[in-house]
Amino acid sequence: MKSPEKVEHVVFNAGAKITQKQKDGLLHFVRNNRFLDEAEISKENLTLVSKLKNNYLAWGKKILGIDLSERAPDSTRVHIQPKDSAKALEISSRHRGADETLSGYAVREAEEIVIWEKTDRQSIKETLNHEFTHIFSHKSMIVKEQDKKFGLKIQNTGYSNLNNTRTTESGEKEESPILAGFDEMMTETINIEVLNNLKKENGQDYLEMSVGYYPGVLLLDMIIEKIAEKTKQNEKDIRKNLYRGYFQGKMGELRAIKNVFGLEAMNFLSRVKPLNLMDAGSMFASAEDIFKLDSQKYFSKVLDYEEGATITLSNGIKIKKYFPEI
Ligand SMILES: [Zn+2]
Repeated sequence: MKSPEKVEHVVFNAGAKITQKQKDGLLHFVRNNRFLDEAEISKENLTLVSKLKNNYLAWGKKILGIDLSERAPDSTRVHIQPKDSAKALEISSRHRGADETLSGYAVREAEEIVIWEKTDRQSIKETLNHEFTHIFSHKSMIVKEQDKKFGLKIQNTGYSNLNNTRTTESGEKEESPILAGFDEMMTETINIEVLNNLKKENGQDYLEMSVGYYPGVLLLDMIIEKIAEKTKQNEKDIRKNLYRGYFQGKMGELRAIKNVFGLEAMNFLSRVKPLNLMDAGSMFASAEDIFKLDSQKYFSKVLDYEEGATITLSNGIKIKKYFPEI
């Protein structure tokens, strides 16, 4: 008998009731049931996928000491398609309300990535590496079995729990993802570090990038800077632990934040939604008292970035906004 494919990060939370044979069947399902038609990937895009994947794996080994190779999605699972293609539209309709701004999507349960094809190669690169980060940090899945039929639901990706539901006052159940906005802040922060690894090829000392969720990314940067200041720890070590926890599902690493700012901070980070991250004003208004951050410093960084000035993050990475040609 052929031994099952090793997919270390797929955790079957339904646990005891599922036999090995059923698990194997599910793995087969996950790996073979494609959400999208198999579209042939162009040579140019295939080269980009391999380059980003290799850079990612090298970064994981060197900086975090983690081998992420088992999680790397196969290049046939990366779809770079025109935004008006039927399948791209199907994905954006799954992502309610965000379709205008969305430039890519990670179908986490199928380990599949969809990127809207455009002439701007830089934007494709940034989005692809961001979606890779989601796939690399996808860890667990809930399996529901009923009458020999299986349903799959993703649970933990990075620090987020996307399948949490809560009961409203009127008794209805509604989706209430936990740490989803915080997870996007982390994802894009890691995206910056991984892409910064490639910047040497342009011969620039700064990273030219259109940072996703930048008001949230700049907030997280100040939070990490403050933890280093308060605990007299090396800023790089704090990042390394938070990043490792993100990929390995060790929620305990978040104690670095809780210990300095208290439970209220965790409460804020649990509730902030990805779309909130784009509104620097109202997000900072809620965060200011909790994290005791310098508002002038924050807003001047946000403004400098928006206007195209080079800004320096707390890890020393210099960023200059990339303005895509329209
Ligand atoms: Zn994302």
